[in-house]
Order: sequence, then C-alpha cells, then structure tokens
Amino acid sequence: MVVKYFSRYVAAILVLASLGFSFKAYGAERENILVVAVAWKQTAAEYRALYHQGFNIAAQKVRDALAARGQDQKPLAVLTDLDDTLVLPLKYWGSLIAGGQDFFDDALWDAWIPKHEMTPAPGALEFLKFCEANGVEVFYVTNRDQGADTYKLALASIRLLGFPYADEKHLTVQIETSNKETPQQAIAEKYDVVCYLGDNLNDFKRVYYVKDVNERIALMEKDKDLFGDKFILFPNPTDGHWIRAIFGDSEPPANDENRKKFGEAATANKSK
Ligand SMILES: [Mg+2]
Repeated sequence: MVVKYFSRYVAAILVLASLGFSFKAYGAERENILVVAVAWKQTAAEYRALYHQGFNIAAQKVRDALAARGQDQKPLAVLTDLDDTLVLPLKYWGSLIAGGQDFFDDALWDAWIPKHEMTPAPGALEFLKFCEANGVEVFYVTNRDQGADTYKLALASIRLLGFPYADEKHLTVQIETSNKETPQQAIAEKYDVVCYLGDNLNDFKRVYYVKDVNERIALMEKDKDLFGDKFILFPNPTDGHWIRAIFGDSEPPANDENRKKFGEAATANKSK
C-alpha cells in the first residue's frame, strides 16, 4: 500500500515537472535576503524598545537643556528625520516581502506613501508632545520624492499622525538632494539645537556620506562620543546609506550580482 501511494506521489511529481512546474517560488522566498531584517522590524520587542530608548535619551537632553538655559540664549529646538525615525513604514516592507521582492522597490514605495499607512515609532508622539509642552520647537527634515505631491503628502502624513509643529515652517522636504546640512545650518543659526534624531548617519552630518564601508565606520568612530548625546540614532536594518556603502547605490537594482554582493558583505569578517 505504502509503495503504491509513494509511486503515485513520485508520478505526480514527474507530471508536474514535465509541465514545467517549478519550486522556484518557494526557494526564492526562503532565500530572500531581506526576510530576517523585515521579520525583526515587524515583530521584535527589542526593535521597539530601541525607539523608547532613543526618545528617553532625547527627552533627558531636552530636560537638561531647559534647566541649563540662559536668559539671552537662542530658543531651543530638536531637529529630526522622519522615515524610520519618527514614522515606521512596516506595511510597505511587509507587502514587499509578500510580493517576493528582496530589494527596496522605489515604484512600490511611491505608490505606498499616498496611502498614509506609516505608523508612529514607539514613543515618538509622546516625545514630540513633550517638546511642544515645553516650548521646544521640532523641525522635521526629510528626503522624499513622490513627484509634484511630495511636500503635500509629507505634510499630510505628519498632520494625520497628530505631530505638533506640522506646518511649513517646521517641515523641510528635500527632493533633489539627500544633503541635509543646508536646512540644518539655517535652523541652527536661529535656534540652539538640543539634539538631532535619525536612523542614518547622514541625518547628523554629511561627512558620513562616503561609499567605502570601512571609511564610513572610521568616520563614525571619530564622533563616537556624540551618539546618545547630540546624535540620537534609531535602528534600520533594511535601508539607508549603509546599503549605499555596500552597493554604491542606496537603492541597488534587484539582480544576482547584488545578491552576491550582499552575501560577500555578510561574510566580510568570516573566520577561517
Ligand atoms: Mg530616515
């Protein structure tokens, strides 16, 4: 009996194989290089705790700055990135993985942004409201490009989430460049910036915008005392300029050459 069913099973496999059926879909999913990073973002309490940790540090920085504030001092401000710092695009990454994709997809991203499905990062809204209650202005500086509606969509997004200071004075959206230093310097002329919030070193200083992995690490190490102090960094294992340092492109094409490069990056420090 067992042999009979087993032979039927083998026969069915052969028929499917002869029809060109392939198990590639399953294999592709299993080998998707983004799955672990996205699963962590979607489920890990640790991922969420890192946001609380960052906003707790930022709130303490604000309290310290308020206590130390002199009479003739410029007003206080917090300067922050948006994506993966204050808002999390979890549904975007979930649908990307569900669609079998293993690299950031710009077209999917541009179609997803107008849906306004970003969720606030844990602790973000509380921190922003704490700043507002204490008269500390928050400036949002983000890089986005969804065409003519880019600014309108970004402003609508933070308004829908109930973020304070959701107005044209406080929101800067850069389309043509990812260099945030020009708006950052303009704000720093008028305000004492308590701290900078971001998920990408580029949110703090442009000097980190280099393509060499080791040079990028060395530049960060030179500023190591600033992290958790002036610079509050949030986790992002799926995208950012660390990807650019590996591929030479922040949004590398999904091809086998780049999958191989990712594998090489993952084994850069392998033991013999
Ligand atoms: Mg970001």
